[in-house]
Amino acid sequence: MNKVKCLIIGSGPAGYTAAIYASRANLQPVLIEGPQLGGQLTTTTEVENFPGYPDGVEPFTMMEDMRRQAERFGTQFVSGIVTKVDFSVSPKKVIVEDTEEYEADAVIVATGASARYLGLESERTYRGRGVSACATCDGFFYRKKTVAVVGGGDTACEEASYLAGLCEKVYMIVRKPYLRASEIMQQRVLNNPKIEVLFEHNTLQLTGEGKVQGADLVYRKGEADEAMHHIDIDGFFLAIGHHPNTELFKDYLHRDAEGYILVDGDSPRTNVPGVFAAGDCADPHYRQAIVAAGSGAKAAIEADKYIKSL
Ligand code: NDP
Repeated sequence: MNKVKCLIIGSGPAGYTAAIYASRANLQPVLIEGPQLGGQLTTTTEVENFPGYPDGVEPFTMMEDMRRQAERFGTQFVSGIVTKVDFSVSPKKVIVEDTEEYEADAVIVATGASARYLGLESERTYRGRGVSACATCDGFFYRKKTVAVVGGGDTACEEASYLAGLCEKVYMIVRKPYLRASEIMQQRVLNNPKIEVLFEHNTLQLTGEGKVQGADLVYRKGEADEAMHHIDIDGFFLAIGHHPNTELFKDYLHRDAEGYILVDGDSPRTNVPGVFAAGDCADPHYRQAIVAAGSGAKAAIEADKYIKSL
């Protein structure tokens, strides 16, 4: 049994910022790093909008910088996945990898969000064999090949632009007649001769012998001019949003219909005193590294206040 004042779950911008603040407040925090060190940000190519980096920054570098900053003030890091929690008791119980047990006066949940899939049977069949939700991680395998990116938001545009730098051709499969992405990202996509945007298309299934070789699409499903369309592709990249990683807390923390943790107004306080939520696991709206970092700071300040009140 490990007894700690403040335990932080998650190693994205929210978790690391909470750790910087909590360690500077002498809470000697322990941070459980989880399955994806550095969080979701590390699946992006370059961070251009985090203040303080006028020339942009490679996401792994930024997360490593945050980690070192937290370490400098005494944060202890534990690699592993939290498998169980009990927030009905005080101190709160957190179990890592089913074996290591922690008791914490305050817990900061910063577990982020994960990529969404369409839910097609063939998507599961070809997972890791042509289906990916991370262009930065897997794009390299598709050099000089043809790929498709599903989605019309900023992530899809970013991934398509990145893949266009590696691949022969990139299709974007967009279900609406327009892109939802910010104007600057839309222009990058629409002005890139390697990217062909297929508006009003949905994916029916992926095809191929042992790996993705094509996709069957439907144009304007249910309309008078509905039409089937097949494209030959080697890779299929999902960029259709994310869902919060909060299943583990469902018996204790109030969540909205999509699973985002509900907090008290603009504070990081959850319905359980001493448990705070920061970053994308509690943010269906902004989902930005800078916002996550800010909420991590707020969570640590609140955790400090809570611990002092015990
Ligand atoms: P978004 O929710 O903004 O976009 C998701 C896209 O996927 C939409 O085009 C949506 O279509 C489409 N989609 C959702 N479900 C399906 C489905 N079942 N079939 C087909 N298409 C589907 O998610 P993002 O991940 O792009 O962005 C999340 C947030 O992060 C946004 O606020 C964004 O601005 C931000 N972001 C900022 C970046 C930056 O500033 N550098 C980079 C990346 C993200 P529809 O439009 O029809 O709903």
